[in-house]
Amino acid sequence: MNRLGVHALVWTGGWSNEDCRVAVTSTKEAGFDFIEVPLLDPAAVDVAMTRKQLEAEGLGATCSLGLSFETDISSEDDEVSARGERLLTSAVEVSAGIGAPFLGGVLYSAMDKYRTPATPASWERCVEVLGRVAEVAAREGVTLGIEPVNRYESNLCNSARQALQMIDHIAADNVVVHLDCYHMNIEEGDLETPVLLAADRLGYVHVGESHRGYLGSGTVDFARFFRALARVGYQGPVAFESFSSQVISQEFCSALAVWRDPWTDNRALAVHARRFMQDQLVAAKRAV
Ligand code: MN
Repeated sequence: MNRLGVHALVWTGGWSNEDCRVAVTSTKEAGFDFIEVPLLDPAAVDVAMTRKQLEAEGLGATCSLGLSFETDISSEDDEVSARGERLLTSAVEVSAGIGAPFLGGVLYSAMDKYRTPATPASWERCVEVLGRVAEVAAREGVTLGIEPVNRYESNLCNSARQALQMIDHIAADNVVVHLDCYHMNIEEGDLETPVLLAADRLGYVHVGESHRGYLGSGTVDFARFFRALARVGYQGPVAFESFSSQVISQEFCSALAVWRDPWTDNRALAVHARRFMQDQLVAAKRAV
């Protein structure tokens, strides 16, 4: 069975000692195998404290982030791109430090709405930087995940096909495709083809509903998505993502465009999501 996880932002908007304790123990109590820790500001994460709390609960971890316009590695402004490279390098080090073998998300551009299309130069810049970051990550034992996101959150990589092309250009063994069915539901023709296309280069999965609330209450075709995962024999991690302004900070709400609250009780939400994902995995394995 795939390892199941939940994004820390389901539990807490920050990462103080107490935030970390609540997020880690709640993840464990809800029955998950790992927690996904956001590293939007890696320098703010207390590595030793986080590692200690994870070890105390016997819980695994992965990490994710989205760059900003100030740290956009695809920027043609040398200073901005270099700042992004430093942030990514630091995020790799923090991931390794807390014992997380994976760092995914929007590692390739700002996670924001662009007003112009990506240029060939911005693509080249991004590939160049990620090549160097992948070398650091390989030394640290960290795999990088390229997560295609919808057109309102990046102009550089919106589909599995583009993510695969980016990975081909980076040409490092420790860079994989990170698919999220919330974004796929907006950008892809269906939820099966991209999984078959990525096949053994798929390394991480985000499970989110069309409105990023309760799984099964929106329009995402989960049965088809999970059957595709079973068909390619996907054994990797599967993490639940859902966001509500009840929990996350104003900054996160702005970055992720969370203007409504799909839920108020995060425990009930998380327990339901774990059950839902497990049921889908079991049903899909039987079906293929
Ligand atoms: Mn995602």
